[in-house]
Amino acid sequence: MGKGDALTRILEIALNLCETFYARATREVSLREAVEEELAHLRAEYERLLQENEIILSKIDSLNRELDDRVLERTSQLESAVVKLREIAIRDCMTGLYNRRQVLKLGREVFLKCAAENRDLSVIMLDVDNFKRVNDTYGHVVGDKVLKILGKRLSGAIKETDLVGRYGGEEFIVFLQCGREKSVEIAQRIKRSVAANMFVIGAGISIPITVSLGVAERKPRDSLDGLITRADNQMYRAKKLGGNELAVG
Ligand code: GH3
Ligand code: MG
Ligand code: MG
Repeated sequence: MGKGDALTRILEIALNLCETFYARATREVSLREAVEEELAHLRAEYERLLQENEIILSKIDSLNRELDDRVLERTSQLESAVVKLREIAIRDCMTGLYNRRQVLKLGREVFLKCAAENRDLSVIMLDVDNFKRVNDTYGHVVGDKVLKILGKRLSGAIKETDLVGRYGGEEFIVFLQCGREKSVEIAQRIKRSVAANMFVIGAGISIPITVSLGVAERKPRDSLDGLITRADNQMYRAKKLGGNELAVG
């Protein structure tokens, strides 16, 4: 091989090499471009997912707040329902006074406290005179109205520290934290005020009502039942005296 041939051969080899490198470089460029395109695509997808995620998170946040508000609202509704139910359980629905169970429960607490501290306590039992006649003459609705008015008058006649409740039917019980003299004075005032003020039912109906009252003062060895029974017996004594009366034992 001559010098010229050898040079030609070398040039051919160099040219081949160049072509090979060029082809590889071209492939690498297009590969990089493809990778970059894919990366850009992935980045865009990632950004989109991030945005979607933020939207979902803010929706969850607002749903959570809505749920919190609803839970708060329902809780306060339930709390006021419980308060109403408690009130219903302790009140006489006709007069709004304490019912028998509640007035005796509270009366027992006061009784035990007064007994422990040797303080004055009196009980008044009150019964409407001839109430059956009121019902028979005017009807039960009017009779109910009389009981409502009487309930209002009784709660207006005592102090906040004293107790009044509907004992049953047309009978009421009052616990007064005072001795015989003061409790008789209060019972007299109730009796006179009931008799002196007609019960205005409406539609031109005004009914004269009287009550009989029995008063008993707590004695050192009294039980609550004993004290109530004494007041009750006095109330029956007042009734036997003809009604619109007061008896003390
Ligand atoms: P007395 O003077 O001896 O107490 O006679 P009275 O008629 O008041 O007593 P009696 O025990 O004979 O009758 C009580 C009446 O009270 C009978 C009952 O129907 C009525 N009464 C009880 N509870 C209610 C009520 O909630 N509403 C009405 N309208 N009447 C009632
Ligand atoms: Mg009665
Ligand atoms: Mg009666």
